[in-house]
Amino acid sequence: MSYSSPDMSTILMARKRLAGKLVKTPVKQSNSLSQKTGADVWLKCEHHQKTGSFKFRGALNAVLNLDEAQKAKGVVGVSTGNHGRGLAHAAKLSGVACVICMSKLVPANKVDGIRSEGANVRIIGESQDEAQIEVDRLVREEGMTMLPPFDHSDIISGQGTLGLEMLEELPRTETLIIPLSGGGLISGVAIAAKALNPKIRVIGVSMERGAAMHASQTAGKPVEVEELQTLADSLGGGIGLDNRHTFHLVRELVDDIILLDEDEIAAGLAHAYWRENEVVEGSGSVAIGAILADKIDISGPTLCLLSGKNIDMKLHHQIISQILSNGGTGA
Ligand SMILES: *Cc1c(COP(=O)(O)O)cnc(C)c1O
Repeated sequence: MSYSSPDMSTILMARKRLAGKLVKTPVKQSNSLSQKTGADVWLKCEHHQKTGSFKFRGALNAVLNLDEAQKAKGVVGVSTGNHGRGLAHAAKLSGVACVICMSKLVPANKVDGIRSEGANVRIIGESQDEAQIEVDRLVREEGMTMLPPFDHSDIISGQGTLGLEMLEELPRTETLIIPLSGGGLISGVAIAAKALNPKIRVIGVSMERGAAMHASQTAGKPVEVEELQTLADSLGGGIGLDNRHTFHLVRELVDDIILLDEDEIAAGLAHAYWRENEVVEGSGSVAIGAILADKIDISGPTLCLLSGKNIDMKLHHQIISQILSNGGTGA
């Protein structure tokens, strides 16, 4: 495993490692958002990536970069969501054993989602903290490698391949709007994008309810926030008080962080569905939500990243139906 800091060279190496193993996800112009803003607004449909989110990029890069001894012992993670799916699938493709630990409280559909990617799911205890104890044991006693969701050089570099891809597809982009939680995604994307065009603006979007990176940047150091229920559930969780990479990278490279309330997140999801024919999860549609909420001043070519699609379809159905019956299709 490499302990170097992520930079353009580690992103270019990640791109080589991942070549031929990713879906080249579609990019399309949004007529509705272009009309609304008077600028060219484009959507990068990364929710069409394998496993339903960009997390597969970082996970696969990290698994492929393990040495043979590490590969033989396998990888372990704690995740109830997209990192778990991405890691499980990356390990399966690479012929590496994978254990995902989670607590009893995780709903059955999420457990099934991760199991369906081929991971050995271990349900331990009543909380994420208890699940973490089992992870620590597997690392200590069985020599497995723990791969975290964002604060890891190979994970950030893998997500950075998305930044390269977006700027190659739309080199004139002036503003990138990127969903933000722990910051692995936006850090990788911003390293690549700013290396190619130092003047590009990179804006992160989080939910108001429990935005750990925003609170940490405001405090000037990593801080804990209360984790609250939100439609943008893939954006929940802390950044780690011992954060190594993403706190500093976000401070250096991200121009602004926008926060959305729950209605604004739902409006983004519904707009993606009714106006763009795309099924996107709450976290995946916050870039659209931020434009609809008029929270970003947009002039030149703008690229919104749609980051994931793994949502309970009954919940999705409920939200889009409610917003249609309100008469608001985000037109
Ligand atoms: C993980 C995730 C994010 C945020 O990524 P970070 O690297 O934690 O900032 C955004 N959207 C989706 C769908 C995700 O799964």
